[in-house]
Amino acid sequence: MRNLFKTGILLFLFIVNIIDAAAQPAIKITLLGTGAPVPSIERFGPAILVEAGGQKLLFDCGRGASQRLWQLKIPLGTIDALFLTHLHSDHVVGIPDLWLTGWIPAVYGRRSHPLETFGPAGTQNMMENLVKAYSWDITTRSKERNKADSGALVIATDIEEKFVWEKNGVKVTPFTVRHAEFIDSALGYRIDYAGHSVILSGDTRYSENLIRYAKGVDVVVHEVAAANESSMQKSPLINQILGFHISPEEAGKVFSQTNPKLAVYSHIVLLTADPSLPPPTVNDLISRTKKTYNGPLEVGEDLLSIEIGDQVKVTRFTADQRKPGEVIK
Ligand SMILES: [Zn+2]
Repeated sequence: MRNLFKTGILLFLFIVNIIDAAAQPAIKITLLGTGAPVPSIERFGPAILVEAGGQKLLFDCGRGASQRLWQLKIPLGTIDALFLTHLHSDHVVGIPDLWLTGWIPAVYGRRSHPLETFGPAGTQNMMENLVKAYSWDITTRSKERNKADSGALVIATDIEEKFVWEKNGVKVTPFTVRHAEFIDSALGYRIDYAGHSVILSGDTRYSENLIRYAKGVDVVVHEVAAANESSMQKSPLINQILGFHISPEEAGKVFSQTNPKLAVYSHIVLLTADPSLPPPTVNDLISRTKKTYNGPLEVGEDLLSIEIGDQVKVTRFTADQRKPGEVIK
């Protein structure tokens, strides 16, 4: 009788586990920062967290990536690897914060292993120079730390198309995109896990290569830029910026050709040359995209998450989840 009871309990736990596993998304994406260089409080710099196969992977580390991670109560030290799309400052200025605040042994940090970083040509050089720039902090804090602690180290690797990163069944594939004529190293990324996948565009204009890599993906996360008509007529700077990015109509073409279950905008560049004239709105982005694409579309906002499993589920971060009064141990 006792054995029968025990078997019953084990069977129950087994079923609960199966249900639990089925409910778990294969890939969870969180848009930590959906902005651009604009020092906005609403949209922090570009950074996207991808969780899959027990890995926490960060793609770009713009302004405020660390704050957004900690809003989710994710200790900075738990990021397993950082991948960079390119080295424009809005994509990398958050690295020293993630790296060195992540090394502090408090509940929000706790990294005691090196920060592994992958990115296009120049990444290794940039990371080596960051180590030099912050040598005072590293030297003084090292005196407080145990000798085996390697949390201040960085391991940086320059990568390009054809490189593949794999761990626990998670596959990260970089591919070349078209940011500007004089930039030939900018990357997008495809992440695959358990039969599901997502494309992160990085900064790019319309890219045939991205469309090739996006075959069969569940979700496409793409950058976008738009300005109002009068700014485009008036401002050479705005025209130059628009020339480095994709318009909503062209992004719509990418979505139509890749046909994902969900298209998402992140790295949203909305411009105006005239302070009295508002920049395009989220609704403008949607209506302009609809000219060339009629599938599901979300305009990203900071901390919006997308869970990819049998279905694709979008959750917006609500204000009541922002809890003040941190306990720092
Ligand atoms: Zn850029």
